[in-house]
Amino acid sequence: MRIRHLSETMINQIAAGEVIERPASVVKELVENALDAGANRVEVATAGGGLNLIRVSDDGSGIPVDELELAVSRHCTSKLGNDIHDIRSLGFRGEALPSIGSVSRLTIRSRTARADAAAEISIEGGNVSPVRPAAANRGTSVEVRDLFFATPARLKFMKGQRAEATAISDVVKRIAIAFPKVRFTLSGPDRTTMELPASDDTAEGRLGRIAQVMGKEFPENSIALDAMRESVQLAGHVSIPSYSRANALQQYAYVNGRPVRDKLIASAIRGAYADVLPRDRHAITVLFLTLDPATVDVNVHPAKADVRFRDPGLVRGLIVGAIREALAKAGLRSATSGAS
Ligand code: ADP
Ligand code: MG
Repeated sequence: MRIRHLSETMINQIAAGEVIERPASVVKELVENALDAGANRVEVATAGGGLNLIRVSDDGSGIPVDELELAVSRHCTSKLGNDIHDIRSLGFRGEALPSIGSVSRLTIRSRTARADAAAEISIEGGNVSPVRPAAANRGTSVEVRDLFFATPARLKFMKGQRAEATAISDVVKRIAIAFPKVRFTLSGPDRTTMELPASDDTAEGRLGRIAQVMGKEFPENSIALDAMRESVQLAGHVSIPSYSRANALQQYAYVNGRPVRDKLIASAIRGAYADVLPRDRHAITVLFLTLDPATVDVNVHPAKADVRFRDPGLVRGLIVGAIREALAKAGLRSATSGAS
């Protein structure tokens, strides 16, 4: 076969293979878009563990009618200027919507504050239909039906509706912790399964949201962190040693509001608790790192959950030091024990 350029749909399906692993990945991308659009309210509705239906509705800025076609086109984004080092939004790659639209039946209905009416566009297995008028209030609603109908090999890997529904709920919780001012609801075909009313963006409001998501016992069994080293700020809550888990699943970390999974952060937490927790026990933690976007690279993997810090030693030292100091202050470890 001669070398030829792949079709747009094939390119998008290849990208979808990386970004859209399962229904929860769709929910993550759509909720991120709603938050980037400044939504105060995000509603997630699903059916069949998200495989039959995912609908994410928001009251954000909306998409101008003449940009709907661009919104579902690859490498089109309203979020990135000319500097890849200055990323302040959750999205920046311009590939979620075309990727999702290449493997499902996707409809976006949207209306901006300035428009007199809403409009919608659909894309099915990569085929885009023309923009049509629609009825809707300000904001955006994205509906994804029959996920992976166009890529049966991926569909076969799904774990069953219950497992996918749990993964969706986990994704919403993880994001919601970083956006206390936003009201989130998650519903299944016949009932609302999670309702997180808006809190304010104060220390108290943030802790309120954490309690909504993680349960009331966590604030009661944790201590607050607030530390700064050079220009890196760390805030959050960490459990007291007697309140630990057999796994590290309840360790939430955020970098500039973005949920991340990061080995460096996980290892810093382990180090901080090394002399107060047995090796098979894990702290429950919520850590918010705030730093200059230019000193952290989020362009590591298409799913945008991995980060690389310019100064990993600084970040590690900050986390280990802040947790140890907080534990010592609470009288839960001696200030001098253990090396840093
Ligand atoms: P990215 O988020 O990386 O820009 P996406 O494919 O997720 O790429 O979205 C493409 C564009 O569509 C966004 O840059 C944004 O302008 C627009 N968009 C998507 N979802 C929404 C939404 N819920 N509200 C407003 N605009 C949206
Ligand atoms: Mg996006």
